[in-house]
Amino acid sequence: MARLFIVTSQPSSGPSGSPGDRPVVAAVPATYAIEGGGFGVYRPFPTQALPLLDPFLLLDEMEPTHHEPGEFKGAPDHPHRGFETVTYLLAGEVEHRDSHGGHGITGPGGVQWMTAGDGVVHSEMPSRRLQTAGGTIHGFQLWVNLPRAAKRARPRYQNVDPDQLGRVEGEGWTVRVVAGSLLGARGPASTHTPVTVAHLSVSPGGVVELDADSECNVGLYAFNGSGTLGAGDHGRTGLERRTMAIYEPGQGTITVAVPISASEGLELLVLAGRPLDEPVARYGPFVMNTEAEILEAMRDYQAGRMGRIPAQT
Ligand code: MN
Repeated sequence: MARLFIVTSQPSSGPSGSPGDRPVVAAVPATYAIEGGGFGVYRPFPTQALPLLDPFLLLDEMEPTHHEPGEFKGAPDHPHRGFETVTYLLAGEVEHRDSHGGHGITGPGGVQWMTAGDGVVHSEMPSRRLQTAGGTIHGFQLWVNLPRAAKRARPRYQNVDPDQLGRVEGEGWTVRVVAGSLLGARGPASTHTPVTVAHLSVSPGGVVELDADSECNVGLYAFNGSGTLGAGDHGRTGLERRTMAIYEPGQGTITVAVPISASEGLELLVLAGRPLDEPVARYGPFVMNTEAEILEAMRDYQAGRMGRIPAQT
């Protein structure tokens, strides 16, 4: 695969022949952007520093600001082709509708996993209840790329309730798995690209070693609290809030810890996936392999071939 840049480098073999820590190749701070109808997001990638975390294309943390009744902004009708959009909600309520009949209202801990594939038009809006009452939305939007063979796959929508997430607890940590597997728990979402998407909580004094596949790119995004990475053989790397640590495929362990003296626990979004290693052509809501396919997507959308969201009844 194309290598990401190297920011820090640590010895990759520990004492007594053990593989030691898998090196953190970069720790990138999230940028701030305005999305959809005008809401703020913290975005660890894509940025100039990190254009891609193959097979992941984008991660946005929705800014958890309070909105008065009638002041919420969402993402009204817009198209996608060539990848999957995932919403994982921590607070608030989001309603999804799409041109293939997909519909779901998701609350805290719930997931909307949409395979855009061949093309959909969808809307992602604060629920009517939230728009009327006001409140806060906090959560994530993740874009997962599709391999060339699945870019024009039939669109699909999966709604995952909070109690369906895979969940396992250890001493000082809890993991909730949306897709793939982590620490013995499996996620319910069915994916075209083999990936792991999980939410890891580590309490002060907690230490957890992640069983990430050595062939995977891994991203750890801290959205609350801070902690350290590495078992300490060669020193630890700090992970601050709204920063994403990146690991390339390779041997070694990935250890996450929070000092016992910390005033709060660490909340991490864990992304792991084998790189597709295919050309990426992206323009706004379309992500294909070639520029010609992007132009085709734009024409297909303009001609109405990605459909229309059915009128609400
Ligand atoms: Mn969208």
